[in-house]
This record gives sequence, structure tokens and C-alpha cells, in this order.
Amino acid sequence: MNVSDIVTPRIEIDLGKIAHNAKTLNKLYGSKGISITGVTKVVCGNPKIADVLVKSGISILADSRIDNIRKMRKAGIQAQFILQRTPIPSQTELVVRYTDVSLNTELSVIKGLSRSAVKQGITHKIILMVELGDLREGLLPSDLENTVKEIIILKGIEFVGVGTNLACFGGIEPDEEKMEYLSTIVKNIEEKFGLTLEFVSGGNSANYSWFISTKDIGKINNLRLGESIFLGCETLYRKHIPNLFTDAFTLITEVIESKIKPSVPYGNVHQDAFGNTPKFQDRGQIRRAILGVGLQDVLVSGLTPMLDIDILGASSDHIIVDAKQIELNVGNGVSFNLNYGALLSSMTSPYVIKKYK
Ligand SMILES: *Cc1c(COP(=O)(O)O)cnc(C)c1O
Repeated sequence: MNVSDIVTPRIEIDLGKIAHNAKTLNKLYGSKGISITGVTKVVCGNPKIADVLVKSGISILADSRIDNIRKMRKAGIQAQFILQRTPIPSQTELVVRYTDVSLNTELSVIKGLSRSAVKQGITHKIILMVELGDLREGLLPSDLENTVKEIIILKGIEFVGVGTNLACFGGIEPDEEKMEYLSTIVKNIEEKFGLTLEFVSGGNSANYSWFISTKDIGKINNLRLGESIFLGCETLYRKHIPNLFTDAFTLITEVIESKIKPSVPYGNVHQDAFGNTPKFQDRGQIRRAILGVGLQDVLVSGLTPMLDIDILGASSDHIIVDAKQIELNVGNGVSFNLNYGALLSSMTSPYVIKKYK
């Protein structure tokens, strides 16, 4: 037997379920003429997963980190690669070397990309991101026209699209009004400069409700999807999207201690390992199980146990649970569903074994 089949903590990755989700979303959005960019950052640009996305019909992949994109390219993944965090100014050489397109909001950075592209004898494509209220990245709409004017004359740069990102920092809904506004902005730019933009990228997994309810997608022709492909949900309400799997990823952990103990620590209470002063609910004597996994492996607050047990807390290397009515013994496996933060952290942690099925 393979070590990765038995050793914990491990994350089990069901490539078939990811393929199903990717194909289903591709068909759904494609039915109204919207292409999908597969966002790989939550799985750290994992090449096995990227390969599944490409084989499921997604030919554009985006990641926020050059390292992840370089990894996918090295593994021979054939896709158009987008850097979807505005470039770090000191990385422009790497950006143009390893990515085809980047999302941008700063003229000085685009000028840096232009210099790097000229030096490398290549053309780098630019999507300008527009601020529509979420207040993370984006040019103010009133600055867009002037920026376009400046970048279309730059050497080594091709202006290929406009995009926006909502529901990430400010939790702002990509509703009909915002999407119509984006379409209007794009129409103006296209008319003014006599262009047809390849990308009008209207958002992310939070755009699902808009997409389902809208009668007219306007100029929007692309969405950048991560969470809905991997976890099968939209992200405004975290509602399950029909016909998608929500359990493509499972975290498997193992009981390393199991004893009947009090539910409230005894002695003088001071700070815990993370500087908090903990409070505990008195549940009397309980079966406390310790799992051999902790905050260095996964964002514990993003885990949901698949058994009827309660997570009481965690330290760097332990999760402590109230096993309630479950007879949890040393060596037993305990499985969890993961939310986005838990998935991101466990895919990032070198201590969590990745097992594919
Ligand atoms: C992370 C990210 C996405 C993907 O978001 P999901 O909610 O995972 O679909 C899309 N666009 C940008 C700019 C992002 O940073």
C-alpha cells in the first residue's frame, strides 16, 4: 500500500468530481456566451488539478502567484495563463516571462511590464480592472479612458480587456446594476478607441445569481471561477449550485488521544498559545479526543466534521473535539468538509499529504 493511502493528515482530492463541476459550469455559463477562466490559486496551481480543468474544456487559467503559474507551465499544462493579482512591481520581468495576460490597475506598473516585454521581445496582454464598489483592486471608472489612451501606445503591451471584481473584500453584490454599468463602460471604450475587447470579465463565483436571473448579459463574456468549481457553491450566500459536487475535497485526520476528562480547564486561567484568554462551556465530563492536525495544517475554523462531534479548539498541532456520543478511539480516522479558507490552507501546508482519487 502507498504511504499516502494511510498516513494523515491528508487531503483527498476527487479529480472526477472536479472535472464534473468544471464541465457543468462551462456548459451552464457557455449557454449564454460566457467563457470561464479557471482560478487555481486555492489549490496553489496544482498541476494535476489544472490538467483536469483543461481536459474539462477550460482553456484559460488564472492564478495570483507567478510561482503557481510557473509550476503549471513546467508541468506542460497547455492553457492561456492570466496573473489575476495586480503585478508586484519588482516582478514585472517574471510576469511577462511566465504569464500571457495580467490584470492591472496602475499605469506605472504597466509601463514596467512594457519595458520588460520589450526587453524579452514579446507582447504581454493587459486587462484593466475597474473599481465598482468592493474597494479592493480597480481603476476608478472616471480614470479608465485616460489610462487606455496611455497604454495603447506602449510597446510590448496589448490592451485586451476590462474586468471587475466584487464580493471579495467589501462583500458587494455583482448585481444587474453593476453588470450593466460595466457593459456601458466597455461600450464607451470600444467606441472611443475603435476596439473589440477579447475579455469583458465580469467577476467570480459570486456572479452566479446575477447570471441565473439576468435577461441580458450585456457585454460580459467571461467570469473567473475558483470556489464554485472546487466547492460547488456560489459565494454570496454560499448556496449549493444545482448538480455540482460540494465534496470534491475531504480532510482526513486521526485520533492521537481519547480520554474522559472535564470540559473546563482547571487552575488559574491566563493566555493560551495564541495570546487569547479562552472561555469554556461546562459540559461536565466528556470524551475529549485529540486529532493529530492543527493550525499549521489547516484553518480549523473552516472545517466541518462529517461525524456528529464538536470542535472545542485548536493549537498549532492539535484539534481538540468533544466526541459526544461517538466512540472515538486512538487511531480512528476523522473526516472533515472544508470551506474556502480551510481548502486554501491545507493545499498550502506542506504537512498535509495530497491524495488523488
Ligand atoms: C480569487 C479571485 C477570483 C476567483 O474567486 P472565486 O470566488 O474563487 O470564484 C476571481 N478574480 C479575482 C481577481 C480573484 O482574486
